[in-house]
Amino acid sequence: LNREKQGMSTSESDFENTIRPGQIREFAGQPQLIENLVIFIRAAKMRGEALDHILFHGPPGLGKTTLSRIVANELGVNIKETSGPVIEKPGDLAGLLTSLEPNDVLFIDEIHRLSTVVEEYLYAAMEDYRLDILLDSGPNARSIQLSLNPFTLVGATTRSGLLTAPLLSRFAIKSRLEYYDAATLQKIILRSAEILAVKISHEAAAEIAGRSRATPRIANGLLRRVRDFAQVLNDGVIDTGITKHALKALNVDEYGLDEMDNRILLAIIEKFKGGPVGITTIATAVGEEAGTIEEVYEPFLIQEGFLQRTPRGREVTHKAYEHLGKKPGNRGAV
Ligand code: ADP
Repeated sequence: LNREKQGMSTSESDFENTIRPGQIREFAGQPQLIENLVIFIRAAKMRGEALDHILFHGPPGLGKTTLSRIVANELGVNIKETSGPVIEKPGDLAGLLTSLEPNDVLFIDEIHRLSTVVEEYLYAAMEDYRLDILLDSGPNARSIQLSLNPFTLVGATTRSGLLTAPLLSRFAIKSRLEYYDAATLQKIILRSAEILAVKISHEAAAEIAGRSRATPRIANGLLRRVRDFAQVLNDGVIDTGITKHALKALNVDEYGLDEMDNRILLAIIEKFKGGPVGITTIATAVGEEAGTIEEVYEPFLIQEGFLQRTPRGREVTHKAYEHLGKKPGNRGAV
């Protein structure tokens, strides 16, 4: 579902599913999160109970959907997948919840986009495995209670800041997915290449890893593109030479920054003398929501040292000027 939102074609999402890890031991990185999950899963299985509700939050492409499927898989239960905007009416939610078998997983992607009504029905379902359905309205109004099988709700969101307090409090487990280091991404790329039966050198995998915005989805996407170049120009072998050639031809940023990352930095440099400038002002300048910049773009830019938060707002760093070929102080091109 989020594939569609991100403008992915069917073949791209087929590709993703082919290389998506299905078992917890195939999932690279996020060591703390994985260590905890393994314990929670084992404990729930030992007790024969549904696992507590889990919220995965963090930027896109870091593995939230993948982990949700792994959780169901490791629990040995079914998973039903949906997304916030798809559940339009309480009846849609009731349909989903009543179709679950004991201890199944219900995965709701983009859970911050649930409607208020649906969300309110979800509270009792999460807390007591119960649905209070309101029949009629006015003087004839009455409600019936439906009891549900115990289940685990796994919610995923890129915008945890938009979740209401009552919803947040009903997730016993909240895990933030972190950006991946280059070594882990290299491992992920080598694994994907093996599944795709593509020959790739360790150096080439490292080269792709360094340009992937610390994100597995981007790493796999680049691998897919570089593979095309290798197939046509290099007998199908991905070495450093063909990788560099392909990444150059594809115009991939040397740090893996995407278009919005660069637009944010450029706006701060060109319109606000490098900052400090407030997040809402930046948001208006680049035409994106302030919250999205704060939760999706900014963490990476800060982590990589392109941007810093100061008490007076956001400021670009020297590295940002250098990267964009700008000179500090004179508001213009080199
Ligand atoms: P999200 O739901 O956070 O947007 P996904 O779970 O859809 O991200 O992951 C995007 C892609 O990246 C998938 O193809 C998946 O195979 C890959 N991926 C994500 N995390 C990992 C990981 N830790 N190890 C291996 N592959 C991963």
